[in-house]
Amino acid sequence: MTYDTENIFAKILRGEIPSEKLYEDEDTYAFMDIMPRAEGHCLVIPKGPAINMLDATPQQLAACIKTVHILGHAVMRGLGAGGVKVEQYSEAVSGQEVFHLHYHVLPFYEGKRMENPGA
Ligand code: 5GP
Repeated sequence: MTYDTENIFAKILRGEIPSEKLYEDEDTYAFMDIMPRAEGHCLVIPKGPAINMLDATPQQLAACIKTVHILGHAVMRGLGAGGVKVEQYSEAVSGQEVFHLHYHVLPFYEGKRMENPGA
């Protein structure tokens, strides 16, 4: 598979589709998931092209994890989450639907079950 520049997250990066921005630096962009599975469910993507984790460069992966770390602390501090789960799906068979590398940052709250954990 080759990287498709018309994927939804590429369009978000180009500003062609609106998104709820949370954080941005030179290499990464973080925004709210449009169908959140938990309060504060957000996504971290590299600004450069990468289909998924398997396709990405070590530099893209390092930049994304750095931003995941920032967002993880933000949901703990800002939303009062008790913990965070990070998910990354690589290839359709694993559940990947958007073919631009993204990490899900999923906050967990004490005494509150996630609405749709398997989505
Ligand atoms: P995947 O299954 O590929 O790991 O997850 C893709 C994620 O992207 C899903 O959680 C889905 O809700 C989210 N998503 C799909 N389209 C959009 C969109 O247009 N805007 C935003 N903010 N999130 C999207």
